[in-house]
Amino acid sequence: MSKQIQQEVVDSRRTFAIISHPDAGKTTLTEKLLLLGGMIRSAGTVKGKKSGKYATSDWMEIEKQRGISVTSSVMQFSYRDHHINILDTPGHEDFSEDTYRTLTAVDSAVMVIDGTKGIEAQTLKLFKVCRMRGIPILTFINKLDREGKDPLELLEEIEEVLGIESYPVTWPIGMGKRFQGTYDRFQKKVEVYQGNKESYYVDFDGENITSDVTEHVNELYLPGLVDELALLEEAGNEFSVEKVKQGLLTPVFFGSAIANFGVQSFFDAFLQLTSPPQSRESSVGTIKPTDGSFSGFVFKIQANMNPAHRDRIAFIRVCSGKFERGMNVTLSRTGRKMKLGQSHQFLAASRETVDEAYPGDIIGLYDSGNYQIGDTIVGDGTSAFNFDALPKFPPELFVKVRAKNAMKHKHFEKGITQLVQEGAVQLYRTPYFGDNILGAVGELQFQVFEYRMKAEYGVDIEFVRMKHDIARWVDRKQIKDNMTDSRVMLVEDRDEHAVLLFENDFVLRLFQDKYPDVTLSTPL
Ligand code: GDP
Repeated sequence: MSKQIQQEVVDSRRTFAIISHPDAGKTTLTEKLLLLGGMIRSAGTVKGKKSGKYATSDWMEIEKQRGISVTSSVMQFSYRDHHINILDTPGHEDFSEDTYRTLTAVDSAVMVIDGTKGIEAQTLKLFKVCRMRGIPILTFINKLDREGKDPLELLEEIEEVLGIESYPVTWPIGMGKRFQGTYDRFQKKVEVYQGNKESYYVDFDGENITSDVTEHVNELYLPGLVDELALLEEAGNEFSVEKVKQGLLTPVFFGSAIANFGVQSFFDAFLQLTSPPQSRESSVGTIKPTDGSFSGFVFKIQANMNPAHRDRIAFIRVCSGKFERGMNVTLSRTGRKMKLGQSHQFLAASRETVDEAYPGDIIGLYDSGNYQIGDTIVGDGTSAFNFDALPKFPPELFVKVRAKNAMKHKHFEKGITQLVQEGAVQLYRTPYFGDNILGAVGELQFQVFEYRMKAEYGVDIEFVRMKHDIARWVDRKQIKDNMTDSRVMLVEDRDEHAVLLFENDFVLRLFQDKYPDVTLSTPL
């Protein structure tokens, strides 16, 4: 493929994730984007995950319940000459390291905020990962059809809590029952809200209220709008595409996903303001998406997607060149050569074989245990290299785990080693007694672990929940015996690095005050 065609293919791609707190409207917005792309004909196709509690003991049931977050880990569609890949970031009970890792495979993010609530905990966590990567983040403030927080307060919150500059591209006119629509500061148009009917646009310069505008927008609201727009011009941030691309400034849009209001204009702006797949750093320097040879990395491994096959799927983000079915690749970590025969991309609820894929695309490969999270694969003819390691994300929940039946020790060890390798849970050991401690980012990980230990390795396990919820990596040499107790526990991670587990933030701060010379680090 010529360099120019490859460049065009790359430029047309947008690979992003939607980050939000549960219930902010991610599913609803995703659905509206799929509608735009002609992927679904009517709303209500994208299933929510709220159809009941998980049956703790039934992994297959968990899979079923997880519905969309598994089968549509990636949604791909075309819209206005762009190839769109939306990567799902599992939330709710199935929030896990996968949720974070998915963010290492995207080039931009949409942050959905519930306008009645403002920034919530999960949004903040996910935002930090996006921020660390310096990718563009566009904000959609949702639920304007309901009475919510003052828009200026919301902007302040974004700046203070998230520490990012904001620039409202659209501005709401009223809200809740009084919601009139939004003003687009770039296009100088009002998008008129019509409830469930389709919205339309009216020109308005933002200063001179004429009958052309008052015919469509209740004039009671217009003087207030003019004042607010003037205030934003005077006191607000200056817009800079450069800053957006570096993730230093978030363009903000207001709308209502459920009414499909402001979604299309948001997405059109999104395509303009975000970047196509970018270069990535590796052990042999920068790898450009337009480099001729295929390369990609594994960001997620999903076991048992199809209960009938009990297979594992490795999700690979294509970073350069072109993927073709049946091509030969090398797995850099082991040097092993493989033919990539069975590959799939995931489209809504059905699997389709993918014959080719380009930078930004995600392919799912059947895996019989070859891959690990973070692995790089490169096309034939290229000498093996590794993309920079994926960051580790500190777990926030910890349990002590052991086999109920001590006779099953061997199976237990084997199971724990393999499941930990998949990366869903982290393993720690206490230095003297060698107790096994599992750490996870989300509760569901433990349930899945328990179920799979039983189903795949025949081991019943028991958990003892620990009170600790913060992990910090330390230099073992700095830690004296008298520094640790039941609230500050010393353990080792898989790589035998020393880790302190703290009972809570208060205990952590107390420790820092007492031992200021001890350097505590997080993977983030
Ligand atoms: P998710 O958990 O972030 O995926 O959120 P959902 O998309 O499932 O939405 C959570 C709830 O908020 C559902 O009951 C939606 O119908 C509702 N919702 C989503 N968008 C809007 C909106 O724009 N306005 C209002 N009033 N409700 C909304």
